[in-house]
Formats: sequence, C-alpha cells, structure tokens
Amino acid sequence: LRTLPGIRGHTITLGKIRFSSTLAFIEATRDGKVSIPSMSAIHAAQKLKNPITAIIIGSHAPGIAKQLQSSSTDLGLQEILVAEDATLNTYLPEVVTPLLQNVLGTVDKYTHFVMANSSIGKNIIPRLAAVLNYQAICDVTEILDATTFKRPIYAGNAIATIGSQQKLNMITVRPSSFSITKQVQKNMISPNIPIKQVQTSEVNDDIKWESDALLDNDKRPDLTSAKTVITGGVSLKDKEHFESLLDPLANTLNAAVGATRAAVDGGFCDNSLQIGQTGKIVAPDLYVAIGVSGAIQHLAGMKGSKVVVAINKDADAPIFKVADYGLQGDLFDIVPELTEKLQEM
Ligand code: FAD
Repeated sequence: LRTLPGIRGHTITLGKIRFSSTLAFIEATRDGKVSIPSMSAIHAAQKLKNPITAIIIGSHAPGIAKQLQSSSTDLGLQEILVAEDATLNTYLPEVVTPLLQNVLGTVDKYTHFVMANSSIGKNIIPRLAAVLNYQAICDVTEILDATTFKRPIYAGNAIATIGSQQKLNMITVRPSSFSITKQVQKNMISPNIPIKQVQTSEVNDDIKWESDALLDNDKRPDLTSAKTVITGGVSLKDKEHFESLLDPLANTLNAAVGATRAAVDGGFCDNSLQIGQTGKIVAPDLYVAIGVSGAIQHLAGMKGSKVVVAINKDADAPIFKVADYGLQGDLFDIVPELTEKLQEM
C-alpha cells in the first residue's frame, strides 16, 4: 500500500482511507500538575491539523485528565487516554515503552505521536521508536505540514527540513518553539470529550527506579520555561561567587539560573542548570550571560532568546556577536552594581 498526503489533513492510503490522528503525550509534575513545557506536545499537535488525543500516565493522570477535559475546547482535544499506575510515575523508558507500544502499535489509529523534547521525551522516544521500528524525528522547532518538519542540526548552526513518509511520525518538539496559543481547529472541537482508561502493561522487573535526589529549586522558575534566565560562566571562579553574585540578581528579576558547561564542570552548580548543546535549551524573553564566552556549544542552547544581555571583560568575546546589549567590564564590579540599581527600581 502506498500512502499519499491527502486533503484536509487526512492521509489517503490506496485501497482504503486512513484518517490522520495525533496522540500527544502530556507529562505530570511531581506534585500532580500538568507540566507546562509538555503542553508543547498539544500545541504542536494543533499544527498537524489532525484530531488530537492526549495521553497521561501515572498516579496523577486522572486529575490531570479532568483539568485538560475542562479546557479541551481551547486545546482542540477529542479524547483523553489515562493510564493510572504509580509504577509509571518515574517515566522510566523500560516501563513506559510497553504501554505506549500497546497504544500505538496494536491499533492502526494514530499517524502522529508527539512528545515534548524534555528529559522525559528524550529518554522515552528512542526506545519507543526502536521497538515500533520507526525513525524518531527529534527536537522539531517548526511543523510545515503533517509530513514536513524543521529541526536544528550541527549544534543549531543549520536547520534541516525533513520530509517523512512514515506511517507513524514520532516526533519530539522543542517546548520554546510551541508555546501556548489559543489557536484551535474549530471543526474538531467536542466540549464533552471522553476520558478512556488504557490497559497498563506488565512491569519489567529487571529495571527498577531506586531513588532520586531533587534540587531545592522550588523558589525559582523552571529553567526551560522561565521568562528571564541569568547564566554564569567559569569566570565566576567558584561555587560561592556563583551563588553570591547570581542569586540576588536572579531573585530581583524573578529569573531562573543557568550555567555554562565549564561552570558545571567546575562544580559551581548542579548539572541540571547547564545550558547548551549537551544541556538545556532555553528561549526566554531576557537572557543575561555573565562571564560567558559564547562558545558555539553554549549558543546552541540559548540562541532563541529574545533579548540577550552579555557582561564580559573581553570586547572580542563571541557572546557579544549574539548580544542585543553588551556591558564590557569586570563582572565582579558590574553584577553587584546592576543588582543594587535594579533593586532600587
Ligand atoms: P570560557 O570559555 O572560559 O569563558 C569565560 C569568559 O569569561 C571569557 O569570555 C572571559 O573573557 C570572561 N571573563 C573572565 N573573567 C571575567 C570577569 N572578571 N568579568 C567579566 N568577564 C570575564 N558548553 C556549554 O556551555 N554548554 C554545553 O552544552 C556544552 N556542550 C559541549 C559539548 C561538546 C561536545 C563540547 C566539546 C563542548 C561543550 N561545551 C558546552 C563547552 C564549550 O565549548 C565551552 O568550553 C564552554 O561553554 C565555556 O564556558 P565559559 O563561557 O564559562 O568559559
């Protein structure tokens, strides 16, 4: 059978009509709320112009499903699938994959599966795509149509346009590229959408979640969705200076704190704060780079920021090439003064 792109978002398979349909994976936070970055899966799904089903897993799934159901009109959802099982709370790929494999593999219903390119999405999609024998398309930043996607390659230095002829397109989307929008497909809205239970699979006993150690960063906005990010480099010298200079500024601006890899390697902060090619991708309204050289691997994680402010003593530092505002000077003088002035405002 040959599959052709059809009209109005439908995919026509010669011999029979196969309607396009998208399954969007929504994550829960540990305290049982909808993870906002993961809502990018639904916002991306809207661009595919197919009927959308959301799937939520874990013990918080029923509560989140109710929340989504109440805003299903705005979101353009047609149906919600729920797998209520505490063993799914940790999103271990070995545990989640059999469940999603069942949902996607046994019914020939979905033409698209969308997750946020979060640490959970990045962990699950390779395994899931491999067991279902599809090629995952990761870190999508633009959806041109239901079979054509754009994604950055070479640490963000080039954008690849990918045309897919797969029967099931499994994609992860960059949360900052698919932020909240009210845009919905009016003809697909059903105000009282069904919530259906999904059969959970047998747990793989070989792999167990032993424990985790969480950072106490409750007071700070989430790095990937923060509107302001203050990032420090290795030039801050040590953990004490990193915290004593960046924290007051971040508190004043209600900002998240990020770091370069050199600062993380220096032990100044936890590696969950690393921004860049091998760290988090951020696209805040305001990005303040303090003592950051602007290495290509770092730029890959923050180039999408709307306004970039750089503080660096070297006038030739590459960060100034991407900065909208540059302050050339010693950060140990500038940062305390800047913080004080902002606090007075
Ligand atoms: P440096 O490059 O050492 O820059 C320090 C800057 O501070 C300089 O510009 C200097 O002029 C300035 N400075 C020094 N003292 C002062 C002062 N007193 N006042 C003001 N300015 C001062 N890096 C990342 O950040 N994220 C990644 O995800 C990442 N992934 C990588 C992946 C690979 C495969 C590789 C090879 C590298 C990766 N790196 C990554 C590392 C990257 O190449 C750089 O080494 C790193 O970003 C540099 O960090 P930095 O800017 O803190 O330090």
